[in-house]
Order: sequence, then structure tokens, then C-alpha cells
Amino acid sequence: MLLRVSNLHKSFGPNEVLRSVNLELRHGERIALIGPSGSGKSTLLNCLGGLERADAGELTFDGTDLRALSGEALAALRRERLSSVFQFFHLLPTLTARENVAFPLRLLGVPPEERRQRVSALIDQVQLTERQDALPEQLSGGEQQRVAIARALVIRPRLILADEPTGNLDSVTGAAILDLLESLTESHKTALILVTHSREATRICRRVLKMRDGTLAPADDQGLHHIHTSTATP
Ligand code: ADP
Ligand code: MG
Repeated sequence: MLLRVSNLHKSFGPNEVLRSVNLELRHGERIALIGPSGSGKSTLLNCLGGLERADAGELTFDGTDLRALSGEALAALRRERLSSVFQFFHLLPTLTARENVAFPLRLLGVPPEERRQRVSALIDQVQLTERQDALPEQLSGGEQQRVAIARALVIRPRLILADEPTGNLDSVTGAAILDLLESLTESHKTALILVTHSREATRICRRVLKMRDGTLAPADDQGLHHIHTSTATP
């Protein structure tokens, strides 16, 4: 099991956001997380990624008890084994697309030649070869998100946490980003937790969980999956 969450609890003052979250994720598995705005999806992702501290419960990632780690050890784990993709891309504005992708490998001290090879391979995989020397402000939203996906994958993480990665994109561009996330997490054998408003996004994840009242449950309406099932077995 890559990730094991049990009885996770998180409050902000009197606001009990995560009451008892339970979740298990296998190596290489993709899951979608849905639920209304304010239901705690981002808070959960931030706890999983070590950006927020849970108040109680168990959180084991890749054999490591995250709740026992110091801030420095959590930061190191984020640099080495876990990546995030956000709605608003969060690229470094003064670095080119290529330099943004290379940045995590610089932090890890990967030697220049290996860095060059790994960055070039990912730039090709996200189809930004022609745009690699552009600055973020010169790129479209979809292109910026492709840079962010390449940057997330370049460290070869065990898990990518994607918080509404298509939330700032038109539906056609968003669908292309989802296809890319699906194909690249599949080929790199990277697990994915995809937080999304969009029903569309659930098509790239076999499991769909819904955040409700501070807990996670299987989504009762798995949308397209039901349609697929019923047409495949008349
Ligand atoms: P979602 O991502 O599902 O929209 P969030 O996790 O962002 O939900 O927010 C869940 C609840 O937690 C909201 O009521 C929000 O106001 C509150 N919240 C989130 N982050 C903080 C914070 N840093 N400080 C105080 N309250 C917060
Ligand atoms: Mg959110």
C-alpha cells in the first residue's frame, strides 16, 4: 500500500473540516476526489502532502509515518517522492518552461547531464519541445499546466496530488490535460489523487470518492462509469 490514512482529523479553530478520513491507495493507483466547495478536499490534499498538519489520526506514505516527521524531513520527502499540481500552475515566473521543469532536479543535486536528459524526455512527453524556452507569461493556460505536469513527474514521484488541475482551463484544454495526466501517470507508474469539480475527470480514475461531512465515501453516482457499464453489458 502506498498511502494509508485512518481516522484523520483536522480543524481550523472551531471549524472541524476533516472529521474522520479513511483512505488507502495502492502503488500506481489513480483516484478522483469530488465534493462541494468548502468540503475539505484541498485541506485533505495539503495534509497528505505535508503542507498542513493533521490534528489526529494516522498518515503513512510509502512506509513513512508523515505525522512523526519534522518540517525539514517533510520538505525533503516532498522534494524526493511526492509532487503537486495546482489550479493556478504555480510556475516560477522568471524561469523558462524548461528551467521550471529542471528546477526540482537542481534542488536534488542531480548532475547536469542526467538533468538535461530527464528534462528533455519530459518536455517531449508533454509536447512542449517548441515552447521550452518561453516564459510562463508567454504560455497559454494549457501549456503552463503541461509544464507543471512535467515538473511534477521529473523527480519520478510515487504520488502526484492534483488539486483541480483543470479548474482554470476551458473544457477542451482541460480534457487534454486529463488525458495527459492519465497517460503519463500510467507510463511512469505514478499514483494520482485528483481533486476535481468536473464529472469529466472521473473518467481517468477507476475509483471516485466523495468528501462529505468531513469524511470520504464512495461516490454514489459514478457518472460515466455507470453508463459505460450498462452499455457494455446490455
Ligand atoms: P475545498 O477544497 O473542498 O473547497 P477547503 O479544504 O479549501 O475545501 O476548505 C474546507 C474548509 O476549511 C472551509 O470552510 C475553509 O474555509 C476552511 N479552511 C481551509 N483552509 C483554512 C485555513 N488555512 N484557515 C482557516 N480555515 C481554512
Ligand atoms: Mg479546494
